[in-house]
Amino acid sequence: MKLSYENINKIKSSLIYPSHLFIDGKYQKSINEKSFDNISPIDGKIINKIYFAQQEDIDITVSKARKAFNNGYWSNLPPGERKKILLKFATLLERDRLELSLLDTIDMGKTINDTYNADLPTSIDNVEWYAEIIDKIFDDISPSSKQYMGLITKEPIGVVAAIVPWNYPLWMAIWKIAPALITGNSVILKPAEQSPMSAIKIGALLSEAGLPDGVFSVLPGDGPITGKSLCLHNDIDCVAFTGSGEVGKLVLEYSGQSNMKRVQLECGGKSPNIIFSDCHDLDAAAEASAYAIFGNQGEVCSAGSRLIVQKEIENEFINKVAKLSKNMQPDDPFNPKSFAGAIVNTEQLDKINKYVNIGKEEGANVEVGGNITMKETGGCYFEPTIFKNVKNNMKIAQEEIFGPVLTTLTFSNFEEAISIANDTEYGLAAGVWTKDINKAIRASREIRAGTVYINNYEEGVDSTIPLGGYKQSGIGRDNGYQALENYLQVKSTWIKIT
Ligand code: NAD
Repeated sequence: MKLSYENINKIKSSLIYPSHLFIDGKYQKSINEKSFDNISPIDGKIINKIYFAQQEDIDITVSKARKAFNNGYWSNLPPGERKKILLKFATLLERDRLELSLLDTIDMGKTINDTYNADLPTSIDNVEWYAEIIDKIFDDISPSSKQYMGLITKEPIGVVAAIVPWNYPLWMAIWKIAPALITGNSVILKPAEQSPMSAIKIGALLSEAGLPDGVFSVLPGDGPITGKSLCLHNDIDCVAFTGSGEVGKLVLEYSGQSNMKRVQLECGGKSPNIIFSDCHDLDAAAEASAYAIFGNQGEVCSAGSRLIVQKEIENEFINKVAKLSKNMQPDDPFNPKSFAGAIVNTEQLDKINKYVNIGKEEGANVEVGGNITMKETGGCYFEPTIFKNVKNNMKIAQEEIFGPVLTTLTFSNFEEAISIANDTEYGLAAGVWTKDINKAIRASREIRAGTVYINNYEEGVDSTIPLGGYKQSGIGRDNGYQALENYLQVKSTWIKIT
């Protein structure tokens, strides 16, 4: 379907806003019928009320998920059969692509162009990729002595809770649930309280695709009650979490306080993007650098938020990025031509504004932007902002702002560039721009980050390439074969041959 105003308005006018818990194949209210207001950052208006999962709802859901795991209808299904169901799910995501895109746009404020042309196609690709690989992976036999045969097999871990953030509501959920489901687990999804609607909607789609009841559930709610209760639950085997490092550390504590469940963490970043003066195409580098911080309103874990530029090209390069930022202003999220939309909520908007003020107090200069904008809409919008004269020990260079705020720093030589790049508690991603292949490879080896982009920055997202962090950016990986490991146990079977 073409992304036009006409099609958008047609689907929007008939949209049903999902609001219920999804348990055992059915939509249900929470037991005490408690709900919370779901507010759109596009105009500040209440969209609907979402039922709020509490301890009793969680206990019931976990017992249904465990029962479904134990009865084996899904966990023991041959991989080739599981594949068919997930491939069917992918076709249903495609069928409802505009509806799901609109739910995410309305919930978290990003543009319909982003949800429809990026989040949905990449989510569908991810489901298809995991469906397609699962019946092509073999287990191992050990090279033991002739007296024994050692079988090294993989089994689903059991009941997985997937706790996800709001910046790519459906996409981040799919990164967990596609590999967790395809490996035979039962999955309980807890979407972020800011963006629960697409997650709730996919419960029905997975049932329609043929997933047995109880295998997939959705529990909307907040972090301190719903998220924490899931993490502390003694009958959950794994928490797969994407979100802030602060909450990631709590998830690790909850695991220790309960049943030592496995924890996989995808957390924040403050990613360096290094521009060497020998970069062969400064225009392409400037465009990618601007996109790396202003795309998705800067609400991106791997945003290139620290631009580290070689001194002799500082002014020329930052001027190029500044010029490009003029065309990256926020606008109506429903306009298919808008580059950026709303910031997720007033708390996040205030946080961005607070950091801009901190940056000024720290002595950095606002080169471009720096203001809340489009106040007349009643929604949450912030201008693309560029700081100059930043020192790497400033808060704006060290802490994740999670908004369209670029800090720019300079360096004189290779060693200084790498030292600044690594001087952070995070290690999620980095960019390196140079025409010297030796320099590029040395930089990639020396930068402590899970992903290094050479002469590009996040141009393509690919289900085949793992994504995750060094240091406090996380534990484990999403995407690629590597993500399957999060959801599998290794079983060693010793057979004596007589
Ligand atoms: P957040 O940590 O506030 O919340 C993430 C999820 O955790 C939400 O579902 C929330 O309800 C839940 N939660 C909050 N408190 C909890 C608690 N005490 N126990 C259990 N669950 C709890 O993060 P956010 O604001 O939703 O998302 C932004 C963060 O996510 C940023 O730091 C960003 O870098 C990170 N992120 C990382 C990746 C990645 O792949 N590394 C991708 C996207 C976002």
